[in-house]
Amino acid sequence: MNLHEYQAKELLARYGIPVPPGRVAYTADEAKAIASEYGDTVVIKAQVHTGGRGKAGGVKLAKTPEEAREKASQILGLNIRGFVTKKVLVGKAVDIAKEYYAGLILDRVTQRVVLMLSKEGGVDIEEVAAERPQAILKYPINPATGLRPFEARELVKQAGLEGNLGKLAGVLVQLYQAYVGVDASTAEINPLVVTAQGEVVAADAKIVLDDNALYRHPDLSRLREAEAEHPLEVEASNYGFAYVKLEGSVGIIGNGAGLVMYTLDLVNRSGGKPANFLDIGGGAKADVVYNAIKVVCKDPDVKGIFINIFGGITRADEVAKGVIQAMNDGILTKPVAMRVAGTAEEEAKKLLEGKPVYMYPSSIEAAKAIVEMVNGGGR
Ligand code: GDP
Ligand code: MG
Repeated sequence: MNLHEYQAKELLARYGIPVPPGRVAYTADEAKAIASEYGDTVVIKAQVHTGGRGKAGGVKLAKTPEEAREKASQILGLNIRGFVTKKVLVGKAVDIAKEYYAGLILDRVTQRVVLMLSKEGGVDIEEVAAERPQAILKYPINPATGLRPFEARELVKQAGLEGNLGKLAGVLVQLYQAYVGVDASTAEINPLVVTAQGEVVAADAKIVLDDNALYRHPDLSRLREAEAEHPLEVEASNYGFAYVKLEGSVGIIGNGAGLVMYTLDLVNRSGGKPANFLDIGGGAKADVVYNAIKVVCKDPDVKGIFINIFGGITRADEVAKGVIQAMNDGILTKPVAMRVAGTAEEEAKKLLEGKPVYMYPSSIEAAKAIVEMVNGGGR
């Protein structure tokens, strides 16, 4: 789950990292009011779930409240890489002397949280990473000790950062504590600014939370925003499904993540493209299957559906009932290829007899058939 900059800064501040004061505005007049309150130069920043806002015109300085109103009205409504700006952060501008980069990610190769540090922070960090990776220092952190202050000071020196060593190292230690504390998968400060006055502040912040750990942070899961995700993903998550929208045209419904992944592979191998991943989980009853079909059929990209069920705790006849109900209600109008096996398989087949559902004895055959139907324009 992505957080907005202002939310990420709020979390970093809880861990002691200095961030410039700022408030969110939804209208240009609100932005003006905040700017007059600060009575100083402010920076107006688009709050959208994508980076590169500066280059896209989503970050602007304003010297007066009237200018803040003007700049905010330019940024509100701005489309940045497909995300429309609905709110801006109005923050006290910082007087930048140096822009550094500090980031933490989970590295699967070293199986560690890796600290990345560079003196070439700012809007071009992606190019630095691509063209001169050696300009970014990478340090795998030992999970048993965490990032210790002496290590952080050593890293600051090695990376060639200038300024108050203790303050810079302190921010790195706090960033690691925040990363672990909120169960983040990414935490970045870019730019990490050394001001003309010698202060160290996080002028921008990005935090991605690990969705699988969100249950431990009910206060943070409330920050989830419907508009930041695909509407079907939101609807599916309200039903408790693991659903991921994909690019293709074959809707996929299965029980168990492993079986669903296998099903995606089969569709790909048969020359088709899955439209989604949808796992109905274990022990699904007819109504759950019905809701799964509802979600998949709402996707206009779906041209046909492959329902792959291995009955264990899930009873195949319950699945069949859900499918039949969806057909009766006119929700399921697209071609369906089904493979059911296991618990209550015979009952399911009996229920589906004479229904417009193509049944196949194996997953492979069902995959080939649905791809043919979707690619070939039906049977
Ligand atoms: P991003 O482009 O989405 O990463 O947005 P940032 O918040 O990182 O802002 C982009 C650039 O705008 C920064 O690298 C700075 O150069 C500049 N900037 C952001 N905030 C301030 C500020 O408070 N004062 C000044 N002078 N420049 C700022
Ligand atoms: Mg930035």
